[in-house]
Amino acid sequence: MVKVLVNAGVRNFPEDVAETLKPHAEVVYMSPSEEGYLDVLSESEAIILGTGVINAEFLDAAPKLGLAARFGVGYDNVDVAECSRRGIHVTHTPDVLSSAVADLTLGLILSLMRGIVDANTYARVEWSLRRSRLPFGRDMEGMTFGIVGLGRIGVEVARRAHGFGMKIVYSDVVKRPDVERELGAEFSGFEDLLKESDIVSIHVPLLPSTRHLIGRKELRLMKPTAVIINTSRGLTIDQEALVEALEEGRIAGAGLDVFEEEPLLSESGLTRMSNVVLTPHIGSATIETRRRMAEVCAENVKAFLEGKTPPNLVPEQRS
Ligand code: NAD
Repeated sequence: MVKVLVNAGVRNFPEDVAETLKPHAEVVYMSPSEEGYLDVLSESEAIILGTGVINAEFLDAAPKLGLAARFGVGYDNVDVAECSRRGIHVTHTPDVLSSAVADLTLGLILSLMRGIVDANTYARVEWSLRRSRLPFGRDMEGMTFGIVGLGRIGVEVARRAHGFGMKIVYSDVVKRPDVERELGAEFSGFEDLLKESDIVSIHVPLLPSTRHLIGRKELRLMKPTAVIINTSRGLTIDQEALVEALEEGRIAGAGLDVFEEEPLLSESGLTRMSNVVLTPHIGSATIETRRRMAEVCAENVKAFLEGKTPPNLVPEQRS
């Protein structure tokens, strides 16, 4: 029977969703550190992949593979060109996670603007002692919100920011007149966006052109009162430059779900700063969204096993 390997990094793939594949295939859950993994990989025709890298070396160990179904929308961990050369389909899970990531993005912003993390600790310990007071927060209404990458997630973030009464500016390689009409969003040059925004939120995919899109030079353009939010990929920001800018007070704060290296090392400069809110790459980690992502992966695997074109091929493989 055809083997489908559910790889490490896909937590709690719902049993009933896996069941839908069983008439077509044997589903095996395994992580690369487990004994016998390479044997299973060598027999697998489809893989559902969370973290981990799919490159030429990996593919050499998977000679029967016909589909790499990424459990997520970003696929910077998959060498798509190499997969295409070998006739392997690559799919991902667009749209179904956009709202969850947008919710977290606004959560990070609210935490920063209202000091919710510190206030939580204060309410539990300091409040009754009356020794100190919390600093005031900031009003989001009326702020300028800069979105870098107004794609699926960027648009959901813009809708929420609009609901908070913020002015939306965006920079992208494509214009979005539809969003301009819907939300009054204004297209902006990248540098102008950095100079004008009170909040800069990054939503680009990780590509050679977006690696360290935000570095020392870009951070210097931001207002000292502005904050930066990243729920895209850690490598879109030069993390060392970010730590430096935060330490020197050149920007006011950061809300980060993604990091250059994950898990984030506890000795990172970021973990010592009170004007930084950190989450451990949980953008899509809600019960409902993870279930939808599993369903989309299963739909792609099923289509592939039935000899049809999987519905969610990555853009590079769509003709
Ligand atoms: P998308 O492709 O719909 O949107 C990306 C946007 O970025 C597009 O509009 C594109 O034109 C734009 N873009 C590309 N290069 C650019 C550049 N150099 N400058 C400005 N804009 C540029 O993707 P999406 O579904 O919105 O997802 C965005 C990214 O979010 C994913 O690639 C993934 O890395 C990340 N993500 C993170 C989490 C998380 O858990 N934190 C979850 C899901 C997605």
